[in-house]
Amino acid sequence: MKTHGDTPRRKCPVCGSTPIEPLWAIPFSTVQDPVLISGANTWDLVLLDPEATVYCYSICPRCQSIFQNPCFVGYKLKAKIAEAPQGLPSNTAAYRENFDRWMLPWFLPEYSVLLDAACGVAEYTRIAQGLSQWSTLLATDISVPHVQRARKLLPGVEAWSMDLDDEEFRPEIPKADFIVFAEAAEHVLRPAHVLHKLANQLNPGGRIYWSIQSVDGRLPVRPRECIYASRQGVTEILNAAGLKELLCELDVGRFRIVAERPPKD
Ligand SMILES: [Zn+2]
Repeated sequence: MKTHGDTPRRKCPVCGSTPIEPLWAIPFSTVQDPVLISGANTWDLVLLDPEATVYCYSICPRCQSIFQNPCFVGYKLKAKIAEAPQGLPSNTAAYRENFDRWMLPWFLPEYSVLLDAACGVAEYTRIAQGLSQWSTLLATDISVPHVQRARKLLPGVEAWSMDLDDEEFRPEIPKADFIVFAEAAEHVLRPAHVLHKLANQLNPGGRIYWSIQSVDGRLPVRPRECIYASRQGVTEILNAAGLKELLCELDVGRFRIVAERPPKD
């Protein structure tokens, strides 16, 4: 049997609380060698050997978030070298629609620095580049090829390779007025930790748009996602990050959230 993941979780990655409870877990036992198998018992062992990879999950009784357990820390090594597409993504219209609907209405006239965190194909950065309001455009992604692509495709954009879970923003990276963190919070291992880090990267009065996969029962299962946060989980993350919620909507299977770092008084 092959289970997905390489690192057991002992506490909730969203709110940090313990205990957590198994939601879908494989019972493991240790047996001493030699193991003797005979007769019909062999059939039972065959049933315990599915060909597909088994994903296991735990649930947090406090914030009701669901998360892979064990999680797969090793995927980051693959993510760092993930290949980037050569040209534009095929669904540029969908990016534009998201941008216009969920981000554009929250830009304040005085904003001038935008950060696309975990930018992936950097399509939101490219769309933002078409607006005159942004004098500085910043982007990060864990994938080095994606960052190289962003630098090449989008002259003037400052892009860095960065693992948001484990690495800090370099001091030379300016603070942002608006942060886009789209389709990424479900991929990081510690979303509350990452959102806190992003909130600190905002100027006072700055805003962040982020989304996270929800546990809505109507969703198709996406087992490779690390986290399925609940409404309580979203609130926990915002509180831990010191962000004020401006918008929280469940849309097309994921939460879309806009939040603000309180202005200095
Ligand atoms: Zn929790």
